Amino acid sequence: MSHDPACVFCGIATGAIPATVVARSDRAIAFRDLNPQAPTHVLVIPLDHLTSAAHAGTGREAAATLGEVMRLGVEVAAQLGLAEAGYRFVINTGREGGQTVEHLHLHVLGGRQMTWPPG
Ligand code: 5GP
Ligand code: ZN
Repeated sequence: MSHDPACVFCGIATGAIPATVVARSDRAIAFRDLNPQAPTHVLVIPLDHLTSAAHAGTGREAAATLGEVMRLGVEVAAQLGLAEAGYRFVINTGREGGQTVEHLHLHVLGGRQMTWPPG
């Protein structure tokens, strides 16, 4: 695994920084957002440091990592009872995407009606 010692989400991935973990796999981990924007707000991250979706690459390794992040998000949404009513996946990417933590993360938001367009 490659980790950035200055990255807070790498700290969560290694267990050095505490988080409320809801699921994990060999490539990804899911934990509660510190500042939830919905009744359920979970983040799913790859265990390896990846700055953003724009840094993920487009090859087989990227497909495996991005696929696993989304697969674990689907698993967590079902586990937390969101599947029937529905939920939202968001991946903010870069400056105009509104990304604030530079380690790729999938937001899983649910438990309320979402609106469109997003802000
Ligand atoms: P972004 O704006 O980059 O898409 O989302 C970053 C998210 O990470 C925000 O929703 C923020 O609340 C969350 N966050 C930032 N620092 C921490 C932390 O140390 N622990 C947890 N659990 N969430 C964090
Ligand atoms: Zn990181």
